[in-house]
Formats: sequence, C-alpha cells, structure tokens
Amino acid sequence: MKKEKVRLRFGESYVEVEGLRCEKCGETLLDPEKTQRILLLNKLLKGVRVKVGSLGKSLIIRIPADVRDFLGLAKGDEVVIRISGDEKLIVEKG
Ligand SMILES: [Zn+2]
Repeated sequence: MKKEKVRLRFGESYVEVEGLRCEKCGETLLDPEKTQRILLLNKLLKGVRVKVGSLGKSLIIRIPADVRDFLGLAKGDEVVIRISGDEKLIVEKG
C-alpha cells in the first residue's frame, strides 16, 4: 500500500483526501473518517433547510444534528446571531 492524495470532485471544485493505493490492483482506499467529514461538509455548504418555530414571544430555529456534529456544538454553548443585509442571518460559534 502506498500513500497517495486522491482528488474528489464537488461540482466545480476539488478536495484532496489522503488515501492508500494498492500497487497490485490499483485500487484506492480512502480514510473513511476524513471522507465522511468531507462529504458532510459538501452537503452543509449547500445549506440545510429548516423551519422557523416559536417559543413564547421568540422564534426558534433548530440546528440539525449534522450541523451540531460538524461544528462540535453542544447544549449550553454560546453562538452569536448577526444580521447581514435584509435577508441573511448568520449564526457564529463562540
Ligand atoms: Zn489490491
């Protein structure tokens, strides 16, 4: 097995992941954990559609489990909600 960078294509962009290539058959094995994370990132970059709910006088937005896991968010963490223009809401960790 030989270490090798593998290019994965996402739409018009590429991401490189480290993999192991078998010199006998040419098959490449990707690090499953890294690959999983990249696939998840690709999905999350496109945006996740969620519904706005309400709780008392406030509106609530649920953070999907995929987003929670990717960012390592947990109950009790603080985030900053910021408005960017008339239609953009940005939620930042920390
Ligand atoms: Zn092989």
